[in-house]
Amino acid sequence: MQTIANRLIPQTAVFRADAPKWAWEVNVLKSDQINAWCMPGGKIAFYTGIIDKLQLTDAEIAAIMGHEISHALREHGRERASRAQLSQAGLTALSLFTGVRGATLDAAAMALNVTVTLPNSREHEVEADRIGIELAARAGYDPYAAVTLWQKMAKQSGGQQPPQFLSTHPSHSSRIDDLQKYAQKVQPLYEQAKK
Ligand SMILES: [Zn+2]
Repeated sequence: MQTIANRLIPQTAVFRADAPKWAWEVNVLKSDQINAWCMPGGKIAFYTGIIDKLQLTDAEIAAIMGHEISHALREHGRERASRAQLSQAGLTALSLFTGVRGATLDAAAMALNVTVTLPNSREHEVEADRIGIELAARAGYDPYAAVTLWQKMAKQSGGQQPPQFLSTHPSHSSRIDDLQKYAQKVQPLYEQAKK
């Protein structure tokens, strides 16, 4: 996980000059949920559920990480200010109630972020997919892994109600079509990075 992040992080400079200097951090959280996210500032989290249930390859992890990093680079969360304020209010209340500090509060902040700041808008999702696939290609990860990833996601959700993570994202077929086009587009970057 750290290796993948280390390869992706330097590529963020293409989209945001200050990003490589962020205090990047990769966390793996033990949870059955199919979820992953990245906060502005560089705090990345992957739930064990998404890694295990989808049997992710390194390139597929890079595709997800690239996508989540893109949300952070573009500060998509900033446009959801009211939700952020709600999150802050929740944190303050939690802090007062339990008196928790430091690491525990930090974990609570992470949990609140994911429950309160979702869902992302459809435009944000498309943008994060496209930037994410380019980050992965530039880092030397096969961009087509984003396609196989979403095929796995679609299979995982089956005909049933998709998990929350998926319901905040565009329909599988339109997303896979878009990713296929973009994978082709960034293929030369991947070939270059492999050299
Ligand atoms: Zn997203």
